Amino acid sequence: MSMGLWSKRGIGLLAVMLAMLSAAGCGGNQKTLKVGIESNFRPFTYTEAGQNKGFEVELWEAIARKANLKYDLVPLSYGEMNKAVQSGEVDLAIAGMTINKARKDNVAFSDPYFDTGLVIATHKDNKDIQGKDDLADKVVATRTGSTAYLYASGIPGIREVRGYPDISEAYDQLKNKAVDAVIFDERNVHDYIQTNGDGKVKIVGGMLNKESYGVMGQKRSKYIGRINEAIAAVVKDGTYSALYAKWFGAPPKQLPGE
Ligand code: GLN
Repeated sequence: MSMGLWSKRGIGLLAVMLAMLSAAGCGGNQKTLKVGIESNFRPFTYTEAGQNKGFEVELWEAIARKANLKYDLVPLSYGEMNKAVQSGEVDLAIAGMTINKARKDNVAFSDPYFDTGLVIATHKDNKDIQGKDDLADKVVATRTGSTAYLYASGIPGIREVRGYPDISEAYDQLKNKAVDAVIFDERNVHDYIQTNGDGKVKIVGGMLNKESYGVMGQKRSKYIGRINEAIAAVVKDGTYSALYAKWFGAPPKQLPGE
């Protein structure tokens, strides 16, 4: 074999290796992304004793590993989330953000990674409210700016929707019978009943609607495509189901994208 052939091969091999390295993000000059999370949206993302915890914190870790994204988590309040993404203060946010048309005017969303919906919670002693139709002339508490706030505002005959920046305040009002009901994301209500409800709160009726959470980015964010591929990959390799089972007690009935 001539030297010329060897060196050509050598160069070819080097080119392939370099291409692989840069595709794997090992270039060393990759940007560390700022990823917004929320400090009080259990069990998805919350801060406890200075630690960032939750299903989404761990799911994001797995997604970022697949997508080869370096990141720092930035705990934000719910009210800051949209603005922080739009202004570029954070590159992305994972915080139980419901994908909807109105929000898509201002931000981009990944493919959905969690299917859920809103529910009604009442005080244990309440016997009048069994579902949405019983909410006419009632006072409902929820989180300001949330999809639940919008939904509650559209209930025919509703007397008042009280918005709180921190959902814990809405639950407190319900516990103290200062409001008739809370409407909010099903898994968060469920978590509250199990952890802080003191046996005073229950869910009535079924799911009111269907919502799905997505990772939020700036419009035309260059990261969304890679994130979608990574979501599909963690679903396929079983990571998603394992995390789901860890945080929600049983594996999902349906996987995202199915
Ligand atoms: N899913 C709801 C929304 O997008 C609530 C999210 C949250 O409180 N973090 O408005």
